[in-house]
Amino acid sequence: MREINYARRYENCLICPRACGVNRTAGDKGFCGMGDTPIVNLVMLHRGEEPPISGTRGSGAVFFEGCSLKCVFCQNFDVSRGPTGKGETVTDEDLSKIYLKLQNDGAHNINLVTAGHFIPTIASSVRIARDNGLNIPVVFNSGGYESVESLKTLDGLIDIYMPDMKFFSKSLSGKLCMAPDYFEVCSKALDEMFRQTGPFVLDGNGIMTRGMIVRHLMLPGQLFDTKKVLDYLCERFGNDIYISLMNQYTPFEYMYPDMKLPEFLQRKLPQSHYDSAADYLIDKGQINAFIQEDASGDDMLPDFKT
Ligand code: SF4
Repeated sequence: MREINYARRYENCLICPRACGVNRTAGDKGFCGMGDTPIVNLVMLHRGEEPPISGTRGSGAVFFEGCSLKCVFCQNFDVSRGPTGKGETVTDEDLSKIYLKLQNDGAHNINLVTAGHFIPTIASSVRIARDNGLNIPVVFNSGGYESVESLKTLDGLIDIYMPDMKFFSKSLSGKLCMAPDYFEVCSKALDEMFRQTGPFVLDGNGIMTRGMIVRHLMLPGQLFDTKKVLDYLCERFGNDIYISLMNQYTPFEYMYPDMKLPEFLQRKLPQSHYDSAADYLIDKGQINAFIQEDASGDDMLPDFKT
């Protein structure tokens, strides 16, 4: 088998679509703010994911610090803007041991949360873990802003993709995460993810073993944009995937000392807008959807080290 030197991908970093070209191995930092060694902030059995992921025993979530999107409304702001100084620096070997421990603890799957800026190490860690007995599905949980080329290096290693599709409008994504090309990049990334997994598969207990769940967090005042995202997902993938329509946006303004949230984000999502989007999704014939009854608030947020 051809040996791939994953470390070299950090030397002229083009891992995500920001394409910073910095030498992370030499300590330079790009948009994600991370060096060439992953920092894990939290490892937990997560019971707050979608039912086919959390199941009865929990999803083995591994939360990484840093992010290549850094949305101004991020609900995990401190961790995504890391390093926090409280996370643990890990190698691919360390990560593989974390996965195997989670498997031992009963996790239904390994859930890699915001790991896109560490894809070379992720690929290596999953290979090592598989060689050492990891036999549960691996989930790649992402903001959806990933390069197709990097995703291709995960082909055969990831069983379930759980990306966001956050925005349709260029001006919205430009304003909120400095990525006016978000929709264009994300739609290509989702195509590649779906190419790798195909339509979703559930086991006899309703736990997902393969496939894709696309999440969309509704933002206040952006119902039109939400409908454009749902139009796209239904037309492109329909019931071959799950769509998770999320309503728990919370304006954590106090977390943004260096920036002001735009006016329209300084309030909660009106329930009537969520209901309207949920009805719209159902009317489009999407039966494989997760729709929330109530705003879950911050009690569903993991207890990050910040
Ligand atoms: S992974 Fe980080 S350094 Fe590399 S291109 Fe993306 S934002 Fe830039």
